[in-house]
Amino acid sequence: MTGAITPTAIIVGAGIGGLSAAISLSRAGWRVSVFEQAETLVPMGAALSLWPNAIDALDSLGLHDALRAISEPLDEVAVAEPGGTRIAAFRVSQCLPGRTGLMVTRSDLQAILLAGLGAAPLHLGHRLADWRQDAAGAAVRFENGVEAHADLLVAADGIWSGVAKALTGVDARHAGYGGLLALSDAVPDHPPQALGLEYWAQGERFGHFDIRGGRKYWYFMRNEADPSGSAAMTVEAVEQAHGWTVLARAAVAATPADKLVRFSIHAKPPPRSLGTGRIILLGDAAHAMEPNLGQGACQAIEDAVALGAAARSGVPDAVLPLYQRMRLKRVRQFVRLSRQGSMVAHRLPRWQMAVARFLMRTIFGALTPFQIRRLYRLPDYEKQI
Ligand SMILES: Cc1cc2nc3c(=O)[nH]c(=O)nc-3n(C[C@H](O)[C@H](O)[C@H](O)COP(=O)(O)OP(=O)(O)OC[C@H]3O[C@@H](n4cnc5c(N)ncnc54)[C@H](O)[C@@H]3O)c2cc1C
Repeated sequence: MTGAITPTAIIVGAGIGGLSAAISLSRAGWRVSVFEQAETLVPMGAALSLWPNAIDALDSLGLHDALRAISEPLDEVAVAEPGGTRIAAFRVSQCLPGRTGLMVTRSDLQAILLAGLGAAPLHLGHRLADWRQDAAGAAVRFENGVEAHADLLVAADGIWSGVAKALTGVDARHAGYGGLLALSDAVPDHPPQALGLEYWAQGERFGHFDIRGGRKYWYFMRNEADPSGSAAMTVEAVEQAHGWTVLARAAVAATPADKLVRFSIHAKPPPRSLGTGRIILLGDAAHAMEPNLGQGACQAIEDAVALGAAARSGVPDAVLPLYQRMRLKRVRQFVRLSRQGSMVAHRLPRWQMAVARFLMRTIFGALTPFQIRRLYRLPDYEKQI
């Protein structure tokens, strides 16, 4: 850090990305304020997979013990026919010895991030209305009339980020599928196996993952012509869709109706930049991706760690160039791969799907360990400065 004046940052959005960025910048010696439009913080969705890259990133933010206390290990990831016959699988621990992924509920993750904020103020009920850059940084105004100024503005305001739209001219688009997801109550007779399993049918997928407490996180996705498609989806439609396995049906049966979350998938194309001047785009605001690799939040957390490394010198003008140099190529790759992940289940016609499954069976094992190691290792951002 240079000079005696503490550099300042405004973070807009208190999702996983914004809260992680607040912790990371605070640890880098910045004075941070977080502004969130919601009056109370309610996590959207149910649960998340965190892969070793995000686990290492959260550990580097001082959350090692808190994270382990809320997590269930996730080692084997498999794709199967609806009746359970495996198409392909890999184990994280075989690709990265000694490692697994972790499954967490979104509310638990949010709680440990909030605890990690420490003294950084979180202003709820502040919806960003206007912002501009000036010679000394960035100025913001919220709909409630509050104004603030800082050396840096971090827009972590999610997939529909107004800041990102204004800077890039790009908006998220419907990806053509959506569905139902939920966190079940404990599922008797099906103890955790550190397993994440997806069943693929034509234009439909069902996935389930182990969550602490014997619960399952499950989702059902199917092709939909427009984003209103999932609004009418019922749990009966999920149960009747295919001859899902006993475990899949048990997870659905153990889910109270008020725990069902309807969703429609939207994503952006790979980003061309991650901000301009003193304005930084982070998380879904920068690179909203389809959920097929389970890396959207992981990449938001990585953004935060890289941002902290880029900001450590305390020189505001140096932050965006460093952050962008370290992150742009990697996040573009995740956005592209996440889109490819929906090809087989959602985009290919039936005959091509059979070919794709055959190819997956034969080449998955050979390619995956190399890819997994490359994607799931946290780059050493401190060293890249
Ligand atoms: C079905 C599904 C499954 C997924 N599964 C996984 C997974 O297993 N693993 C994984 O890593 N990722 C997963 N993701 C992706 C992950 O959910 C997102 O990438 C992640 O939550 C993005 O976090 P964020 O903080 O960038 O954005 P958000 O969580 O959207 O947070 C943005 C925040 O900004 C606030 N905000 C918005 N506009 C304003 C404004 N004008 N003023 C003030 N505040 C504002 C919002 O209220 C919100 O709190 C999944 C996504 C989906 C849809």
